Amino acid sequence: MLSFEVFPPKTDDKYDSVKHATEEIAKLRPAYMSVTYGAGGGTSDYTLSIASNIKDNYGVPSLAHLTCVSSDTETVRAQLTKMKEFGIENVLALRGDIPEGEENTVRAYSYASELVREIKEFGDFCIGGACYPEGHVESQSQKEDILHLREKVDAGCEFLTTQMFFDNNILYNFLYKIREAGITVPVVPGIMPVTNGAQIERICKLSGTYLPQRFKQIVDRFGSDPDAMKQAGIAYATEQIIDLFANGVNAVHVYSMNKPDVAEKIMENLSCIIGKNEGGAL
Ligand code: FAD
Repeated sequence: MLSFEVFPPKTDDKYDSVKHATEEIAKLRPAYMSVTYGAGGGTSDYTLSIASNIKDNYGVPSLAHLTCVSSDTETVRAQLTKMKEFGIENVLALRGDIPEGEENTVRAYSYASELVREIKEFGDFCIGGACYPEGHVESQSQKEDILHLREKVDAGCEFLTTQMFFDNNILYNFLYKIREAGITVPVVPGIMPVTNGAQIERICKLSGTYLPQRFKQIVDRFGSDPDAMKQAGIAYATEQIIDLFANGVNAVHVYSMNKPDVAEKIMENLSCIIGKNEGGAL
């Protein structure tokens, strides 16, 4: 099965166009759609209105992201109360990036596992969390990162979505290591169809994501031609997804970035594969 990720508008004037884009993606009938959350909570109401619109008017289950690093307990509880009012049942519990210069600030929540516990206590949500096949940038080692991941799962995380990666072997190795560490919840690999070469090089540098030579060649050759880059990026993502399905993965999350044409093309490329890949364990 395939799911898609969208993000809320940062400003009021963009709301209608973002809403329209998310509706076009919902019409493709993915297994579910996730809606991101501004780290500072600035667009929190838009996260909820977009997530509930997808669910109520298009029948597509929604997963609302929630970050905690810049929030106090009251704000988090208020957001959870609103989620219930909107009928949202699935939440991706995240820490969020620590704003620059605030590394030593005392905060209500330091790690996502604390938010997971808070949501669990609140009750009646299916809770997911993030994981990093190449290790989170702040971690000293992957071993340490996986130990903390185990704590997050033990706190009540029922499934995990991965950070993007461009070499499936990294994911297979990671799955092997976390299963060995006793993490048994479903893991949904996150795949990013790259449509902007310069942007992806910057993002990967920041997040420490490995760009295989094969992928770099594509960016070098097609990065300055938007149409060619889009076509090549979609083809690369499609290939990654087919390989994941062929190797026993049953659910893939696509970072579709509010781009209905990209989501549609990926669905089209996998039209005979997705139906045969329903059900089964992740
Ligand atoms: P955590 O699970 O808390 O981990 C953060 C770091 O702390 C890791 O290095 C971990 O090893 C370490 N750690 C955990 N527990 C402990 C402990 N007890 N002691 C010491 N170290 C510990 N950001 C947004 O702002 N909005 C979004 O909507 C959003 N969606 C995302 C969706 C996915 C699928 C992913 C992969 C990321 C998303 N992010 C989002 C980015 C995310 O907020 C950042 O990557 C953030 O830096 C880490 O968040 P986390 O929930 O993984 O944190």
